[in-house]
Amino acid sequence: MKSIYDYNYEQLQEVMIQHGYKRFRAKQIFEWLYRKRISEFDQMSNLNKDSRDWFKNNYILSGLKVRTKQVSKDGTTKFLFELEDGNLIETVMMVFDYGNSVCVTTQLGCNMGCDFCASGLLKKKRDLTCGEMVAQIMYVQQELDKIGERVSHVVVMGTGEPFDNYENVMNFLSVINTDVGLAIGARHITISTCGIVPKIIEFSQSHYQYNLAISLHAPNDELRSKLMPINKAYPIKELMRGLHIYMSENNRRLTFEYILLKGVNDSQLCAKQLANLLRGTNSYVNLIPYNSVDEHGYQGVNFDAAMKFYDTIVKGGVRATIRKEHGGDIDAACGQLRAKELMKEGKL
Ligand code: SAH
Repeated sequence: MKSIYDYNYEQLQEVMIQHGYKRFRAKQIFEWLYRKRISEFDQMSNLNKDSRDWFKNNYILSGLKVRTKQVSKDGTTKFLFELEDGNLIETVMMVFDYGNSVCVTTQLGCNMGCDFCASGLLKKKRDLTCGEMVAQIMYVQQELDKIGERVSHVVVMGTGEPFDNYENVMNFLSVINTDVGLAIGARHITISTCGIVPKIIEFSQSHYQYNLAISLHAPNDELRSKLMPINKAYPIKELMRGLHIYMSENNRRLTFEYILLKGVNDSQLCAKQLANLLRGTNSYVNLIPYNSVDEHGYQGVNFDAAMKFYDTIVKGGVRATIRKEHGGDIDAACGQLRAKELMKEGKL
């Protein structure tokens, strides 16, 4: 059955009208779903029984069941959820001094095939629906409600490529961002893409206020194509062309993600090439410690090596940060928990 979380506000207004309800009902429903955060349609006390029954007969609410929940020493919490159709997805909540950030999964598996990433161990089975993405946030929010806290930030960086599931992801962001929904500020939402240029351009021209992050991971085509097959379709020059459109349309600072892989992309030459590529753009580089994935054989770098790389790009005129590792003790790497669970079940 379809989830009521599948509709953004405008779509729900249309659905209400189509079924003979007044448009304003959509606002009431959104309030029940996202402000009062009901777990049963029967809790919608300002609707009569017939209307409540209509919702019950036609829609589900969340549809997520929690399979496992791992809590790390630093507060990072990783959920393994079972979807309505029995498939498994992962959602991570990270606790920062500025708030609680949720990392959302957008697809079952991933087709991008990045060589270092656990998510691609399984090819994409299907896209997640808007409702399945909203349900991830709602589950975490309902847990946080117990301690009077809220999901303040969202990163679209879980399993999957968001720009390969563009429409559903944009609907999902609209639900969590709208004032009548969860009202999570656009500037507290970050979408990360491996670089699907036509979608970057479409996104740029829509003037969303969400932050955009690009998984770069290499400063030249030879290396990037080895690590990330998407680079063969959209090489760095083409990627930068798309990003210049983004920067000229949006006047927003871009984030480049760069995982430091020992002996692969951590050389001083790479650091200099990276600085040359990005100097003068309104961006910064987020250097990411690698969570090793047994199947891939890559290794991360130690702190000194990360600092050396950092110094070179900063001296080269590019802003940078080194990301702190979270949940190192609980299989935090993208796709690891799901991969392990499937392995246990003999499906991997
Ligand atoms: N497909 C999107 C979003 C999901 S991946 C993208 O490529 O951006 C989110 C980020 O985590 C990406 O930068 C990705 O390259 C990185 N990542 C993947 N596997 C990782 C690992 N084992 N350790 C650290 N970062 C990883």
